[in-house]
Amino acid sequence: MLYKRSSQLFAEAEKVIPGGVNSPVRAFKAVGGTPIFVKSAKGAYLYDEDGNRLIDYINSWGPMILGHAFEPVIQAVIEKAKLGTSFGMPTELETQIAALAVSMVPNIDKIRFVNSGTEACMSAVRLARGFTKRDKIIKFAGCYHGHSDSFLIQAGSGAITFGSPNSPGVTAGTAKDTLLARYNDLENVKALIEANKNEIATIIVEPVAGNMGCIPPNKGFLEGLRKLCTDNGILLIFDEVMTGFRLARGGVQELFNITADIVCFGKVIGGGLPVGAFAAREEIMNYLAPLGPVYQAGTLSGNPLAMAAGLAMLEALDNDRAIFQRLEEKTAYLAAGIDKVLKANNVAFTINTIGSMISVHFDAAPVVDFQTAAKGDNETFKKFFHGLLKEGIYIAPSAYETWFITDALTYDDLDFTIRAIDKVSKNF
Ligand code: PLP
Repeated sequence: MLYKRSSQLFAEAEKVIPGGVNSPVRAFKAVGGTPIFVKSAKGAYLYDEDGNRLIDYINSWGPMILGHAFEPVIQAVIEKAKLGTSFGMPTELETQIAALAVSMVPNIDKIRFVNSGTEACMSAVRLARGFTKRDKIIKFAGCYHGHSDSFLIQAGSGAITFGSPNSPGVTAGTAKDTLLARYNDLENVKALIEANKNEIATIIVEPVAGNMGCIPPNKGFLEGLRKLCTDNGILLIFDEVMTGFRLARGGVQELFNITADIVCFGKVIGGGLPVGAFAAREEIMNYLAPLGPVYQAGTLSGNPLAMAAGLAMLEALDNDRAIFQRLEEKTAYLAAGIDKVLKANNVAFTINTIGSMISVHFDAAPVVDFQTAAKGDNETFKKFFHGLLKEGIYIAPSAYETWFITDALTYDDLDFTIRAIDKVSKNF
């Protein structure tokens, strides 16, 4: 495949955009080479500026669960755009999507819409701090909750890929209020709570981690966090930016029957437009301005185009009760196929999957937390990434990211992918 035009466009972009990209995860710094510039996408495929077609396993890092350019979303956005793009005043649409989201997700009474997952998590933490009147938070190494200051402490996703899990620019004052725990390690969390009695406002967790590869919670981990929070007056935040409306209709709370106090959303809830949201029971949400003292706002929050896209997406998911099962079956099929060919080619690997999330790690040890994820062999990953790209398959340009399976992927696409992995892994 040729990437001549992408290379030219990247060279132009580098002159006026830092690193040529508006989000570091899009750069190919970890794997080498030039980012691919996209012209369009439809269903399971990306079409780049050089005329190549790629099977897409990133899907805009999660939102496009039904495939690219999903017709009801596109139509809803076109219709709304004709009526004006932003008002800064309430619209009926905001109540419609809020009501639908509240009906789909357990244990939430009210939801507020923002513009990104970062904003959702940042606002949720402020709300938890205001509500509990405590300052400290616990987060897990390798979990990513967006790029607001409190979270860039051993953060996952691009922050690990680019070697900046602790970003300069975060003040020591902010960093000291973020306590760091090991994912899947309850004893570690217990010790932190003991050492900071009555000071911790919230534990924020990706209830299925997706930013150090895909790492499902060990049995009892989320239940344990719930109990520790209840026993110690701590609010439990589930960051479901990645998992919400993806792993089940009601997210991980429904999947594992565990109640969170505040839930954050992003990605799927916006249907591909810039949307985030956070939600909780009424008592907590009423602590927000204008009813309560915790301030949070946004010029474009609840934007009509974004709400139209999100509503069309949630309606499609709500109306298709078989969707999550179907996605899980496709993921299991792909995982079984990859397992078979990598074993046949004597590759040391681990595959983690849950629902429509999957990651392949080039290390045979179980990958259960940041430390074990970080042990993966990056040289093999680079060969894997570039080998697949040559075959017309696009996965994230980092070993620390999850692949997203969409409804648009056919079993032929999955078979093609398995054959490509067989071919590529013969040359490791
Ligand atoms: N939380 C999780 C779990 C995420 O995966 C991400 C983004 O990847 C975020 C928060 C931040 O969302 P955004 O990139 O929309 O700011």
